[in-house]
Amino acid sequence: MRIFQRIQREVTVLTQCRCDRCGLPLAGEGADVFEAQEALHVDFVGGYGSVFGDGDRVCGDFCQACVQAVLGEWLRVSAPEDGGPKLAQNATQRSKPDAPE
Ligand SMILES: [Zn+2]
Repeated sequence: MRIFQRIQREVTVLTQCRCDRCGLPLAGEGADVFEAQEALHVDFVGGYGSVFGDGDRVCGDFCQACVQAVLGEWLRVSAPEDGGPKLAQNATQRSKPDAPE
């Protein structure tokens, strides 16, 4: 037997998401659909030896411009037709150590 009862409960819903670095709206009021599509959402739990702490949850929401500004130098970006990685556009080229001869 199942007995049902109507109840009201309070729920939390996401109404807006902004870039944690620059504040650009990524979802909700004022958000551009293309910025929302290109946003990077980070959400993970650090494991044993994590620099963030064992078992600590790490979260962040970032617009594409901030991802490029902070990580672009190290990201490998490939155009679909290229097939090979290249550095992100406008990223500063890192100096590479001399290869042994
Ligand atoms: Zn941003």
